[in-house]
Amino acid sequence: MDKYEILKKIGEGSFGKIFLAKAKVDNEQCVIKEIDLTKMPVKEKEACQKEVILLAKMKHANIVTFYASLQEENKLYIVMEYCDGGDLMKRINMQHGVLFEEDQILSWFVQISLGLKHIHDRKILHRDIKSQNIFLSSNGKVAKLGDFGIARQLNDTAEFAYTCVGTPYYLSPEICENRPYNNKTDIWSLGCVLYELCALKHPFEGNSLHQLVLKICRGYFHPVSPRYSYDLRMLISQLFKISPRDRPSINSILRKPFLQKLVLRNLPLEVSILSFRGPIKSNLMPASIIQKMLNSI
Ligand code: ADP
Ligand code: MG
Repeated sequence: MDKYEILKKIGEGSFGKIFLAKAKVDNEQCVIKEIDLTKMPVKEKEACQKEVILLAKMKHANIVTFYASLQEENKLYIVMEYCDGGDLMKRINMQHGVLFEEDQILSWFVQISLGLKHIHDRKILHRDIKSQNIFLSSNGKVAKLGDFGIARQLNDTAEFAYTCVGTPYYLSPEICENRPYNNKTDIWSLGCVLYELCALKHPFEGNSLHQLVLKICRGYFHPVSPRYSYDLRMLISQLFKISPRDRPSINSILRKPFLQKLVLRNLPLEVSILSFRGPIKSNLMPASIIQKMLNSI
């Protein structure tokens, strides 16, 4: 830890504090997440350390970059990229009811989806997608997925209990019914984030947990403003299918024609250059080319 200078505390995490810091070697700003291991049972501690190794391997423009992790006494420190635009929930609240433009919503959504694709393609689940765990940088233009399951490798039965303590708004019908967490559960939460971007409020709310769970299990939500395109509104309803099997996978979301331009714009340069060899005759690229590009990232 003596390689870093703590600048200030920027957040209180569920397992410890979050600091803005500076690496002494190059004066680069970074975020240090401190996880208190004393309160953690041995099994969880081990899971936590495994998770960190996994996180270190995640390198993607739309995932908060992990720089290092170190353990000192009974504390685990995770050093990561600082996202100066804060989290997406704060950004949504800053709108004070003024709806976002569709272009802005789709740009963030596609970026978050590319980050999630990177994770899902590696057979890893995020398990905690919500606007508070999505971070903005570069003047809010870049969206990055962060804070995944670091300190909570829980079994599935503990999932419901955990979410009830935390943020119950993102509960999915299967978790409410104590069925296992799967990749489509992440898709449900992705739907919640997309809805929040369109409506500036949670899709499912209730005066009590019971009422909330009822609404979630019926998949009942108020439609978003008709100013948004039919494609976008259709996508929301697909993400909120009650049965996980009926929800699209992250790859089929990214293959949707109305998202194509944005997917291309957000692919790494070398991938999009490759795809532009040869003339593009129609407005849309053949699905096979899009799939090939998606496979290469
Ligand atoms: P937890 O969910 O365990 O409380 P998070 O990693 O989500 O911990 O961090 C909590 C809060 O700290 C975030 O909602 C955000 O406001 C801030 N924060 C965390 N990581 C970063 C980061 N890399 N860049 C900027 N702010 C961050
Ligand atoms: Mg968080």
